[in-house]
Amino acid sequence: MSTKVAIVTGSNKGIGLAIVRALCKEFQGDVYLTARDVGRGQEAVKSLASDGLKAMFQQLDINDINSITAAAAYFKEKYGGVDVLVNNAGIAFKEADTTPFAVQAEVTLKTNFFATRDMLTHFMPLIKAGGRVVNVSSFVGSRTLNKCSAALQQRFRSEDITEEELVGLMQQFVDAAKKGELQKGGWPETAYGTSKTGLTTLSMILARRSSERETERTGDAILLNACCPGWVRTDMAGPKAPKSPEEGAITPVYLALLPPGATDPHGKFVSDKEVQPW
Ligand code: NDP
Repeated sequence: MSTKVAIVTGSNKGIGLAIVRALCKEFQGDVYLTARDVGRGQEAVKSLASDGLKAMFQQLDINDINSITAAAAYFKEKYGGVDVLVNNAGIAFKEADTTPFAVQAEVTLKTNFFATRDMLTHFMPLIKAGGRVVNVSSFVGSRTLNKCSAALQQRFRSEDITEEELVGLMQQFVDAAKKGELQKGGWPETAYGTSKTGLTTLSMILARRSSERETERTGDAILLNACCPGWVRTDMAGPKAPKSPEEGAITPVYLALLPPGATDPHGKFVSDKEVQPW
């Protein structure tokens, strides 16, 4: 049998690094720490090695389509596909940041939604039967959903929203932010929250699509979920957060290692290992 492979994006530090650390201990196969910056990535691999853990490294900047396609080609060639993908890479402007909101909206949506979608577009065809896909979203995305207009909430929660419609809505948010028309469009003023509302909705759409495809092929189903790691002490969230990165990794790792033959959760938003209302 070929060697299994697990990949974690944005894993040179924070929750991503803690996910890699846990997978090195628990996943039966090769674990890839990936980072946009080769130096920072290799440093992190070294820090794991000093704890006796062996992670492999692949450069992966999710904002760079050439980096995504090169990585996809590498995993296809070397492993014939991917068993576990954790989309963890993400950004957040600090509250005190004075960058104009329109810029924050564009930059945040670019990484957290559009680039993560690019990852999924190129990697979903590589996910093997029985594979697990985990999108690290946030409880802030759920809170933001509840602050959207009733019409937007209805679309984000609907079973028939398509990927194209969702992409259009995320673009509308960025455009509305640029025109100063968020309120008119029914959007709350949070770029990070909206990007995660989009990512959770995208996870639900792709899970439905993968289930449809599954009926046509044999083998174990792919399970794809979005999750919240909790509020975690990292460079993003700061030192006051209650959870350690290791604690933040628990739910993403649980979803990444759902046992063979499991049928749920799938297409859900999960926090503290529990499916949450959407
Ligand atoms: P950190 O800021 O500590 O780490 C973010 C990681 O993402 C870094 O490795 C960073 O790399 C990487 N990254 C950013 N942009 C890119 C890119 N374009 N390509 C590849 N990697 C990239 O944040 P956390 O560990 O706290 O966050 C991890 C995930 O968890 C995020 O998606 C975040 O939104 C989510 N989350 C975090 C919470 C928390 O309380 N911390 C709460 C809820 C969700 P680099 O070092 O090069 O910048």
